[in-house]
Amino acid sequence: MKIFLNADHHRHAGRQEMFRGRMVPCHEVPARLDHVLAELGRRPQGELLSPAIGDATLDAALARVHRPDYLQFLATAWADWVAMDPANAERDVLPSVWPLPSRHGFRTDTPPANFAARLGLYGFDAGSPLMAGTWAAARSGAACALAAAGEVLGGARSAFALTRPPGHHAGPDFFGGYCFLNNAALAAQALRDGGHHRVAVLDVDYHHGNGTQTIFYERADVLTVSIHGDPRTEYPFFLGHADERGAGAGEGANLNLPLPRGTGFTDWRVALDTALQAVTNFGASALVVPMGLDTFEGDPISGFHLRSADYATVGQALAGAGLPTVFTFEGGYAVAEVGINAVNLLEGFGRAV
Ligand SMILES: [Zn+2]
Repeated sequence: MKIFLNADHHRHAGRQEMFRGRMVPCHEVPARLDHVLAELGRRPQGELLSPAIGDATLDAALARVHRPDYLQFLATAWADWVAMDPANAERDVLPSVWPLPSRHGFRTDTPPANFAARLGLYGFDAGSPLMAGTWAAARSGAACALAAAGEVLGGARSAFALTRPPGHHAGPDFFGGYCFLNNAALAAQALRDGGHHRVAVLDVDYHHGNGTQTIFYERADVLTVSIHGDPRTEYPFFLGHADERGAGAGEGANLNLPLPRGTGFTDWRVALDTALQAVTNFGASALVVPMGLDTFEGDPISGFHLRSADYATVGQALAGAGLPTVFTFEGGYAVAEVGINAVNLLEGFGRAV
């Protein structure tokens, strides 16, 4: 499979994130991707390429998934942050105040001029630092997702967008969970626009793919399925329950399979089979897999117990769907093992097709 590598990913390198009242070193670090790359060097799965997507094409694709005011916010966020106080150039951007319109009655219809307030309008947590290179890194990552979708539209069985920051928590107009642009949603939309009438997204990250769900929640043409830690105890907490089935035209086109913290591979695999059956029942002709490896037993911020060898089985099962498949690199914070686990999955997939 062709692998589209985000050569700009190092430009997004957060120093610290807020975790329960203290600043801690970021979990989502450039070394994650470097480990995948190193493992691909040892066990090549296909050609490594740079995406060839022009700026105009990229901008048009971003506008298919994200709101214009949000894209504008991201484009100027760093400059706006430094303009607030030149000393900010030494600090990553993090929100610290939120409007919570659904509960507190605060208004969001009048865009605030103060950048600290705008940050709270668009960001949903204080754990997702943004810095000078974030916009460039995220854009290049989106280009990788589009290139991978293009490869599949051109007839390839599969392609992989090897990029960070990840994307599945980013919604139409919000960032969070280390995500800024939703690479999986961009790939799914590109597959739709390229002629696939029904596309499925099967998110295997430990955390619910809330951004992707929100983007497609009222649409009948994109099925979103997510297997994840139960949001009653696991991040992102406020979405990802089993009774979220889609709305309006999208009623029935969203499937959440939350599992309790501590779930091992045997039970996880049952959920995967349920997910794959839903993809088949939906009649999808193409599949996008937001590939999170934080279901690994050694992950420092997650709670499932998949082992490295299990990822080959996961890849094999995904190949069993028999669909052209785009993979996007998402979570996985056991940094030393993330490369082995990612390549195990790709290798399992490759062996089964
Ligand atoms: Zn995750």
